[in-house]
Parts: sequence; C-alpha cells; structure tokens
Amino acid sequence: ELNAEDTRNMLLYIADKIIANKPYLTEVDSAIGDGDHGIGMAGGMQKAKKKLLKMQGEENAYHLFETAGQAMLMSMGGASGVIFGSLYLAGAKGMDPKGTITAEDLARMEKKSLDAIQERGGAQVGDKTMVDALAPAVDALEANSGKGLLEMLKAAEEAARCGMEDTKKYVAKFGRAKSLLERAIGHQDAGATSVYLIFQGMREFVE
Ligand code: ADP
Ligand code: MG
Ligand code: MG
Repeated sequence: ELNAEDTRNMLLYIADKIIANKPYLTEVDSAIGDGDHGIGMAGGMQKAKKKLLKMQGEENAYHLFETAGQAMLMSMGGASGVIFGSLYLAGAKGMDPKGTITAEDLARMEKKSLDAIQERGGAQVGDKTMVDALAPAVDALEANSGKGLLEMLKAAEEAARCGMEDTKKYVAKFGRAKSLLERAIGHQDAGATSVYLIFQGMREFVE
C-alpha cells in the first residue's frame, strides 16, 4: 500500500512523465485531432504539480488525488479538463480521510472515476476515446486487487496498453476525429495514450 507521502510522490512522478511526453501526446493528437492534447495535459499536470509540491505533510491520501484532479479540471478547461480531472477527482471526492491507499482503494477509486467520466461524456468502449484504455484498466484493477499493488498495476498497465492499441481499429464518435469517419482508422486516440502513460507511471513508481 501507499502512504500519503508515497501517494504524493507517485502523483508528482506521473505529472513529470506527462510533462515529458507533451510533444508525443501533441503528435498523437495531430494526426486525427487538433494537436493540443499534449499542451492541455502538460499544462494541467504542471498546475497539479504546483499544488502537490505545497502539500508535503498532507495526511489524507484522497485529498492529494482530489487536489490534483481539481487543479487539472480548473486549468485545462473544456471537455478534456473535466474528463482528465475526473480521473483523479471523481473517485477521491467524498471519501472518508485515509492515510494509506491500498490496491482495493485504488481499484474502487478508479472505478468511480470511470463511471463519472462515462456518465458525463457518454463514451462507450469502441468510441475511440480515453475510455477505451480506462475501462479495461479498471477491469484489470478490480480483477487483480487481491494480488497486491504491483501485480494489480502491472495488469492495469497492460490492459490500458491493449485498449490504447485497439483505438486504432475504431472510427471516432467524439471530437474532430469524428468528422474523419473511416480515415481515423489506423490512428491511435490521444486521450487513450495519456491514460496508458498514467497507469504506466503508477506501475513504474510502485516498482
Ligand atoms: P480537445 O478534444 O478539446 O482538443 P484534448 O485534445 O485535450 O481535447 O483531448 C482529446 C481526448 O479527449 C480524445 O483523444 C479522447 O480520448 C478524449 N475525449 C473526448 N471526448 C470524450 C468523451 N466524451 N468521453 C471520454 N473521452 C473523451
Ligand atoms: Mg485536442
Ligand atoms: Mg482542442
């Protein structure tokens, strides 16, 4: 399990990873989107990082997720701000304060976030969005939470990677890629790529 300081360091690690991947995420979004995903994600993570750096000594691990998600939501704006802010925020909001995050806690949190994202955005698996990576990752979290944090995260990372790869096969139901119809096939979704990097970051940090 992760104590609050581990949680803070993990979220900082992920933020740095997304910031480092800004050019890559922008490149992925350029093929079939409008090419701003790297800018949006890196900007949101930069704001989250700024907040997290001031939270040394925070004892409620959920509050760290909540603060990071809130910072992303507020700074990124638009639909993707709500969607990616919710990835951290929706699952942590309203939880009783807790000093440690177990595998089960993380699985429960990400399931709540997925539900909120789907309720708000209406995307299903196969619509060529970040849900294509997040939904299988959440399934893997739930199926493997009994095996401990690292094994669970390895399974989630692999599930997210497969889900991200699968987006190449789909036509898009949202955003600019939608108007490309079959021409979007063969291209990977940018948001799904971010989800994969986030789960990869969790696994790398815990390992
Ligand atoms: P924008 O589309 O406003 O330029 P971004 O480029 O930052 O924003 O993010 C685009 C990503 O957001 C897409 O690649 C997709 O994964 C995700 N996305 C878009 N609409 C939805 C939705 N309704 N539900 C879930 N994810 C979505
Ligand atoms: Mg975009
Ligand atoms: Mg845009």
